[in-house]
Amino acid sequence: MKRIIIVGGGVIGLSIAFELMKKGCNVTLLEKGKLAGKASGAAAGMLGVHTETRGNPSMTSLAKESRDLFPALAEQLLNCSGIDIGLRQNGMIMPAMTGREQHLLQEEANSPQGMKEELRWLEERELRKMEPSLSRSFIGGLYIPRDGNLLAPRLSEALAISAATMGAVLHEGTEVNTLIMKGRSIIGVNTTRGPLYGDEVVVAGGAWSQHILRRVGIKLDAAPVKGECISVTPKEGFLNRTIVSDDVYLVPKADGTLTIGATEQVGSFSEDVAAESVSRLLAKACTIAPGIAAAAWGKAWAGTRPKTSSRLPFMGRVPDVEGLSLATGHYRNGILLAPITGVLMADLLSDKDCERRLGYEYTRQWDRNRGSTTSEVSR
Ligand SMILES: Cc1cc2nc3c(=O)[nH]c(=O)nc-3n(C[C@H](O)[C@H](O)[C@H](O)COP(=O)(O)OP(=O)(O)OC[C@H]3O[C@@H](n4cnc5c(N)ncnc54)[C@H](O)[C@@H]3O)c2cc1C
Repeated sequence: MKRIIIVGGGVIGLSIAFELMKKGCNVTLLEKGKLAGKASGAAAGMLGVHTETRGNPSMTSLAKESRDLFPALAEQLLNCSGIDIGLRQNGMIMPAMTGREQHLLQEEANSPQGMKEELRWLEERELRKMEPSLSRSFIGGLYIPRDGNLLAPRLSEALAISAATMGAVLHEGTEVNTLIMKGRSIIGVNTTRGPLYGDEVVVAGGAWSQHILRRVGIKLDAAPVKGECISVTPKEGFLNRTIVSDDVYLVPKADGTLTIGATEQVGSFSEDVAAESVSRLLAKACTIAPGIAAAAWGKAWAGTRPKTSSRLPFMGRVPDVEGLSLATGHYRNGILLAPITGVLMADLLSDKDCERRLGYEYTRQWDRNRGSTTSEVSR
């Protein structure tokens, strides 16, 4: 049985662990802090295929495939862990205030992609009927029926419990200091608790992945992007669907809270929340749904998204290095992409033929980085 070591206990590492356990692999996952203690615990939990992947067709097809895995996954996780991930597939709305915004959104609805996803322009009256709490300044909106949201921390928790129930070993408080290299192969990891050897090592360390890889001379074209969110509890039924505008989103969750996000600060790993960010997010949210001002305050938090320069994740084997794979760079969409990442990476690690399928979208990523990767590794 293949012994697979996963570095990083965010949603990506956990989803890979869960899918590998279904294939009967021997999995040890190492997390330096707490499982889902970084980006995966901070995510707003939107499943925004349309809003997040516009203009990036490779990403759209991957995201769609992933989103469509959620209903079955939610059921499996409920059976296996007893945890309900709060999946809500009740749609999103992008409202418009000006004629120009209306025109652009109507174009999206009428595009071939829009028609496939059954996007529909809502006239003012219909919008008001569907979401009476929205500002009276909106003249209509784009309805995206298939997207939705879930409770992100619960997704990771359910994946962790399910993987552990099937026999995966998950170690919190265990930092991987270096990868152990023998010739051109990775044969294990040195951790704060000593060395561990395996047949395959998967780096799923989120925004910290480049720190792990740099120590064996591999560079990633990626950067951390800090994000801050706040949450409030409005009156019941205040909003029914996720509302997305250019600079803020409102996500009504299955637990009755409303998540409002998110800021973006490139290059920062800080987990502080600036008072100014809270007031800015609240002010923007109130222009969309003024009743938010009367909602009960919840909390504010921050996390670090792993972003690549192409906005596509790195997924697959590292070229020219035996036994080393990578799954990171999911940027704003790691929750949405977790199911497909788990499935594809587990296929790859348990069956070499799958490399073609994973490679079909992502070879460009590796090609772009191949120069530095290959030369650095061979030094
Ligand atoms: C504010 C915010 C809002 C977001 N909203 C959404 C959303 O609505 N929808 C969506 O799909 N996505 C969203 N995202 C993005 C999503 O959260 C990320 O893409 C996803 O969580 C990345 O998962 P990951 O497992 O790669 O990284 P992480 O969750 O960061 O996990 C990586 C883990 O690796 C561990 N690690 C790192 N180095 C080591 C080491 N050397 N040894 C051991 N462990 C190590 C870290 O401690 C960490 O726990 C949001 C992110 C933020 C910050």
